[in-house]
Amino acid sequence: MPPSPGARPRVVVLGAGFGGLIAAKDLSGAPVDITIIDRQNYHLFQPLLYQVATATLSPADIAVPIRSILRDQENCAVLLGSVDTIERGERLVLLDDGRRVPYDHLVVATGARHAYFGHDDWEPVAPGLKTIDDATEIRRRILLAFERAETESDAEKRRALLTFVIVGGGPTGVEMAGAIIELAKKALAADFHHIDPASARVVLLEAGPRILPSFPDALSAVAQRSLVRMGVEVLTGRPATLCTRAGVELGDERIGTRTIIWAAGVEASPAAVWLGVAGDRAGRVAVEADLTLPGDPHVFVIGDTAAVSWKDGMFVPGIAPAAKQMGAYVARSIRTRMKGETPAPFRYRHQGNLATIGRKSAVIDFGRVRLTGFIAWLTWGAAHIFFLIGFRNRLMVMLHWMWAYLSFQRGVRLITGSTDLP
Ligand SMILES: Cc1cc2nc3c(=O)[nH]c(=O)nc-3n(C[C@H](O)[C@H](O)[C@H](O)COP(=O)(O)OP(=O)(O)OC[C@H]3O[C@@H](n4cnc5c(N)ncnc54)[C@H](O)[C@@H]3O)c2cc1C
Repeated sequence: MPPSPGARPRVVVLGAGFGGLIAAKDLSGAPVDITIIDRQNYHLFQPLLYQVATATLSPADIAVPIRSILRDQENCAVLLGSVDTIERGERLVLLDDGRRVPYDHLVVATGARHAYFGHDDWEPVAPGLKTIDDATEIRRRILLAFERAETESDAEKRRALLTFVIVGGGPTGVEMAGAIIELAKKALAADFHHIDPASARVVLLEAGPRILPSFPDALSAVAQRSLVRMGVEVLTGRPATLCTRAGVELGDERIGTRTIIWAAGVEASPAAVWLGVAGDRAGRVAVEADLTLPGDPHVFVIGDTAAVSWKDGMFVPGIAPAAKQMGAYVARSIRTRMKGETPAPFRYRHQGNLATIGRKSAVIDFGRVRLTGFIAWLTWGAAHIFFLIGFRNRLMVMLHWMWAYLSFQRGVRLITGSTDLP
């Protein structure tokens, strides 16, 4: 459906994550009609999901309804719906319930999901961490494992219940490992009569030669030492070869465990399929320097879904600041085009890499400046509070953190859903 003469251009944004939300917000006041579509009714601050999975924060502390974020933006409509495909010829987005949404400019910002590298059958026993449902499911499994261990008379089964294996030594794996060992050694330590939660075994498996591969060697080494000091077993150069209900296999060796957490890889949302183009190995869509699809200037692809060239043959990393910069760029670019001008190419500014290891410990790589330990941990905390959306969430997260810091307790130890372990 072409726009009627004199009508304002229709901008459709798919995904209200870090990239899509900024694109929509930065078009506030522009003479366009925006529709932002997401399959969830909330924007999620994924960097703190691991704290929901390990009982420090509640889901509502890190999620904000998209409607409330955009409530004052008159040129933006919010649509709850799941994208099924895109008909580029007709400039239509098709939702899975049959609704059709026409566009003049399309911004695809549907992020990424976990990748099991051809082993999708591992997912039921080794859930990944991407959504609130994932986080509450992982929290359920971790807390339930301690409950089951309390009444398990067989020593080997009890050992497996008290063993937690995290597959993947990137920032999420490191953060999960640190948070689980702290949960076991501090928050749960005095709450059981028949088991000693502090004896829990937490194993972090990394297939590559070192954890935190996107950080400089020295910071990886600091992170590994900190984890080991906290009691985490860090096994590098050890890819998981099989994940089952009984445990994780590493070639000939098997670690008996009832809780496996997958933090080993991501792949882009299926946007390449929707757009009818070939994705790269991670499913990402290659874009031009102005973030548009080659040969189709009506379609922008941004954030974790896009393969954007950066420097030295590398791509822009899949992190929140990169998605936000791309979202802001697209909004500027649409405004520039509406003036009949050509936008300058997108330039990524890398602000640094951050990972927290546990209470009072983190590593930060700002390029020339590198921080470790308590200072890094404070900086990490301040940055996360700053980037959270909404005063309520900032306040709640700060209060929860202060409570956890002073009391060593975790306030959200809720087992919700089924009480069966997989
Ligand atoms: C556990 C975890 C921890 C992380 N920690 C950090 C960190 O510490 N620092 C950092 O910088 N980055 C971190 N990241 C990465 C960061 O969250 C992503 O790079 C960023 O969210 C990418 O933004 P995006 O806009 O591309 O996608 P997202 O923010 O993922 O948003 C995608 C949106 O699209 C929606 N969507 C997906 N498919 C559909 C569909 N079919 N129909 C409708 N809507 C759809 C989703 O619901 C979602 O709202 C972390 C990621 C995870 C999973």
